[in-house]
Amino acid sequence: MSDMGQIIISQTNNGIVIRYKNKNILLDPDGKESVSNKPDLILISHAHSDHVRGLKYVYKRGVKVILSRETYAILSSLGYKLHSQDVIFVKPGDELDLGDLRLSVYNAGHILGSCMFSIELPRVSIGYTGDFNFEDTLITRRADLMDADILLIDATYGHPLFSFPPRDILYKLIKESLKQLIEAGFIPILRGYSLGKGQELTRIAYDFVKGIISVTKEVARFNKLYEFFNKSSLGNYLVGASGDVLIWGLKRARELGNTRFRKLTFSGWTIKYGGRGFPLSSHSGFTKIIDYIARIEPDFVIPLYSNAPFLTRLIQKEFGIKADFFGSKTNNREIMYNISLRGLL
Ligand SMILES: [Zn+2]
Repeated sequence: MSDMGQIIISQTNNGIVIRYKNKNILLDPDGKESVSNKPDLILISHAHSDHVRGLKYVYKRGVKVILSRETYAILSSLGYKLHSQDVIFVKPGDELDLGDLRLSVYNAGHILGSCMFSIELPRVSIGYTGDFNFEDTLITRRADLMDADILLIDATYGHPLFSFPPRDILYKLIKESLKQLIEAGFIPILRGYSLGKGQELTRIAYDFVKGIISVTKEVARFNKLYEFFNKSSLGNYLVGASGDVLIWGLKRARELGNTRFRKLTFSGWTIKYGGRGFPLSSHSGFTKIIDYIARIEPDFVIPLYSNAPFLTRLIQKEFGIKADFFGSKTNNREIMYNISLRGLL
């Protein structure tokens, strides 16, 4: 049997690097420094800052950057700069031939423009979900299934504590809560990330509330981009701080002294940290993560983000699938996979 070589997957101080045949593929630069191995290719899953903020330290003219048109438009609106000749636009369903490897692109169901990637090498494919949501929402279609022998998966909520109720139930509960607050004379303030959650909250307010909806400038900016790319309206809304229901980002926490305001927070973390709100997340909850892994049937799983250690142990123990995680971001740990052996070194 010929030696097919090895793949080295590492978490660096600025994104995850996949190294194969002296080629470095950098996934989602998230750090504040350059990386020791210059990337040959950069893949951007989506435009949230914790996936792109390291771009300026690793992107140099001549390095190809693969991302969706939506992600590019959002990044441009936020002041990120990429040379047009270096940008390769992709969309779910695309397959690219890049010499030693093929790249397949999938919908991640997370926010506008979010993509997942499968890097296909001879005899082995590496799937990367970025942030993903394996459930339909009012504004996004659930994540696609993909081919992946090695699966790097979003484990932000990879713990049974975060078994979110189905979205249709959550929507009913939110509708009822908004109705009660408004009937009692309150002005609900719906708080969530401006990019992603802001668009879902705009749509929720429009569908569930009769009255004036006001959003922050930042939410409006992402709403406009969503509406442009999806050729569909999120509903009627104004920009400002007065209305029957207000939609704010998470940063804007002041109540402006109005005793009629009632803040509701929309995030998976409300389960852990409490407060008034709903666990409406743009990520898959625990049960959806498990469902996704079971359907993909990978040989090897690398859970990423907050609950990676727990999910790694669970997958190994309960499902008998090999798994490993990177641990802290600063240790630059490398996971080596031997292609001929189809296993770890
Ligand atoms: Zn995200």
